[in-house]
Amino acid sequence: MIAPTNEAFRQEVREFMRSNLPDDIRAKVAEERMDLPKEDQRRWHRILDKQGWAVPSWPKELGGSGWTDEQFYIFERELSLADAPRNTVYGVGMLAPTIIEYGTDQQKAEILPRIKNADDFWCQGFSEPGAGSDLAALKCKAENKGDHYLINGSKMWTSEAHIADRMFGLFRTDSLGKKQHGITFILVDMNAPGVEVSPIKTFDGGGTEINQVFFTDVKVPIENRVGEEHQGWGLAKYLLSLERFGTAEVSRSMRTLQRLKAFASNQTRGNLRLIDDPDFKQRLTRAELTLRAVELTEYRLLFGGEPAGAEASLLKLKGTEVQNDILELLHDAVGVHALIDMGDPEEAGELPAGPEEAGYAARAHFNFRKTMIYAGSNEIQKTIMAKAVLGL
Ligand SMILES: Cc1cc2nc3c(=O)[nH]c(=O)nc-3n(C[C@H](O)[C@H](O)[C@H](O)COP(=O)(O)OP(=O)(O)OC[C@H]3O[C@@H](n4cnc5c(N)ncnc54)[C@H](O)[C@@H]3O)c2cc1C
Repeated sequence: MIAPTNEAFRQEVREFMRSNLPDDIRAKVAEERMDLPKEDQRRWHRILDKQGWAVPSWPKELGGSGWTDEQFYIFERELSLADAPRNTVYGVGMLAPTIIEYGTDQQKAEILPRIKNADDFWCQGFSEPGAGSDLAALKCKAENKGDHYLINGSKMWTSEAHIADRMFGLFRTDSLGKKQHGITFILVDMNAPGVEVSPIKTFDGGGTEINQVFFTDVKVPIENRVGEEHQGWGLAKYLLSLERFGTAEVSRSMRTLQRLKAFASNQTRGNLRLIDDPDFKQRLTRAELTLRAVELTEYRLLFGGEPAGAEASLLKLKGTEVQNDILELLHDAVGVHALIDMGDPEEAGELPAGPEEAGYAARAHFNFRKTMIYAGSNEIQKTIMAKAVLGL
């Protein structure tokens, strides 16, 4: 047996979502609005916290759930199928484990409870112009001035910087030697003088999601460093390796597939329901089979007893490819109406109202191109597989 079979737990999570997920939040997530307001995120986080599910991956004594891998997997799936917001990733899933592993006692005492209670929202300041796939090329400078660091430079593509209270970031503290040396992991207050958040408009027509963050002579207390000076690369590698579940986007793709099938069953093309149109049916079946293959590969790698190494790259690659195929099908199915939500509101006003799925189809189709770029671009995943799996 490799597939998760804990049906009792699945039902418990399903029932919890049914009874506790507020309708207004569910509706916003279902619309695939990328800018779920901070207050909604906080409200949902606190509902989960009451249930003991807000920080499930943490050690039990800090409020973690003690779940098995199988339970984590089921929880993530049910969250997506219920159109619930995902657990906040930057604080709960990335920074907290890094603080638990590398932080001082004082950092643990100050930071972890505020994440658990959703008092502080965090963002991740790693990428820069010129340092994305080649992250170690980063240049944003932090000069050690004795009792503080002085930060100058900028961070790029910072998700949620506009709502974050604090940033964990990688900064250049030394330029001599290998580029992986001289990087330091520092926590920055987003309200500190000299921090400026500049939103980047994305081509999905949605709200703000990513930003460029500029630092001009920003003073950060020296105690905000995590780990040793110049040794931040090790922390970054640890943090980036935490993303085990969900990179294949299977849960979200399953939800989109459900919606696509429901939509195509209610639309006609010529004399046929869209779902019975031979061309459409062929594309749909191909996508569904690929998704099922990705799901089974995910089971095999997560629960098959062998630790997954570079093979995980295959999941990210194929999972995000099929995700984008399914979204393209939905976008095609909605047809011209998918444009409505994208364009100028005045122009959109001249078009007849489209089906309910149009806005979602448009936003998601364009927005989820991102899954092939972040968390290690798909081209980089191919290189990893070529070298580490195929030995080329
Ligand atoms: C929506 C979104 C949100 C993000 N949020 C955050 C965030 O919160 N915090 C953060 O720090 N970063 C964030 N990122 C940044 C993300 O990690 C980078 O975009 C990613 O690492 C790619 O870097 P880049 O954009 O600089 O592209 P580049 O690295 O310049 O790559 C450009 C293209 O060249 C290809 N390429 C690059 N190197 C190679 C190679 N060696 N071999 C083959 N092909 C190659 C890439 O695959 C890509 O297609 C986000 C990005 C997106 C799209």
